[in-house]
Amino acid sequence: MAETRHSKILIIGSGPAGYTAAVYAARAMTNPILVQGLQPGGQLTITTEVENWPGDTHVQGPDLMVRMEEHAKAMGAEVISDYISSLDLSKRPFTAKADSGTTFTADAVILATGAQAKWLGLPSEEKFKGFGVSACATCDGFFYRGKEVVVIGGGNTAVEEALFLTNFATKVTLIHRRDSLRAEKIMQDRLFKHPKVEVLWNHSVEEVLGDETPRGVTAVRAKHVETGETTDIPCAGFFVAIGHAPASELVKDQLELHNGAYVKVKPGSTQTSIPGVFAAGDLTDHVYRQAVTSAGMGCMAALDAERFLAEQE
Ligand code: FAD
Ligand code: NAP
Repeated sequence: MAETRHSKILIIGSGPAGYTAAVYAARAMTNPILVQGLQPGGQLTITTEVENWPGDTHVQGPDLMVRMEEHAKAMGAEVISDYISSLDLSKRPFTAKADSGTTFTADAVILATGAQAKWLGLPSEEKFKGFGVSACATCDGFFYRGKEVVVIGGGNTAVEEALFLTNFATKVTLIHRRDSLRAEKIMQDRLFKHPKVEVLWNHSVEEVLGDETPRGVTAVRAKHVETGETTDIPCAGFFVAIGHAPASELVKDQLELHNGAYVKVKPGSTQTSIPGVFAAGDLTDHVYRQAVTSAGMGCMAALDAERFLAEQE
């Protein structure tokens, strides 16, 4: 028979936000359950070096996430390998159904399901991910000091990434599929004025070109959207900045959202539009999207949940 598990706090997601929430909730003796989802450890498990996690000048993303999992377990959190397929927030206790058949009920829920960078979906993009193809200039820009890079996208993220990359690269080519950017005007002004930046309008990227040994990007093949003419742009790094998709499917019809599909929280807290439901990390945040900010919000969510439970008692 399918099992039902009750906990005071159910944490959904095992990225920096989820594990940090688990550490705090466990230390508050609430015996939290954390459900990991399909990507145990979250987005950092798909990167290599992380150089901006305080206390580690250099740590492999997957290793850092294994350490966070061990930390959460050592503090007493129960970490479960499962995927929440539906969530009912209409009444307390809240109910989550998992792929395994287990039903989780909880007095408070912390949503930490993160966000995924959108990708172009090209086989060559997949092949060079982590070897010249990236979706995070803040994380990987440093590796392109003295080299040429290409960014694709026309929103704030793409412009921000392109400007950030000028700190390292000798030349940044921004490729956009239309003839005007979606980014804020002030950002556009900064971009157009920058001597290291060139914009290639009305182009898509057809293929990422590179070497096998050592594996690395050498160019991207851009295609004019109207004429179909292709141009190979030499570069060592290719940054995909075409938007992020928060993983809010579970709650999009139950909670207030902002900026498309991000879960809205009360400013300065992690309280969502339903009392007892808290959200942390990239799921709520379209601006910072870093491991350390996600971890910080995970801490806030656990503290907010504890306070909520105390008020209920
Ligand atoms: P995520 O890390 O996205 O984790 C979400 C978790 O939710 C996953 O464990 C997933 O399995 C789980 N989940 C989703 N849906 C469900 C469900 N239905 N049921 C159960 N679980 C679910 N940031 C830095 O600070 N430094 C870096 O160097 C850096 N490098 C990066 C490199 C890459 C390639 C990428 C993509 C991102 C990088 N980032 C970096 C950003 C950083 O990874 C994110 O900001 C951070 O991971 C967000 O943490 P999070 O806990 O909010 O969510
Ligand atoms: P976005 O605004 O959705 O922009 C995505 C860009 O990528 C668009 O220009 C889009 O082109 C392009 N694009 C989408 N799919 C593509 C594809 N398959 N191929 C080529 N190009 C593609 O996403 P974002 O820039 O990540 O911003 C998301 C939200 O975060 C926005 O609300 C933004 O304002 C906010 N944000 C704010 C800041 C800030 O305030 N500093 C920084 C970053 C992000 P089209 O224009 O043709 O649709």
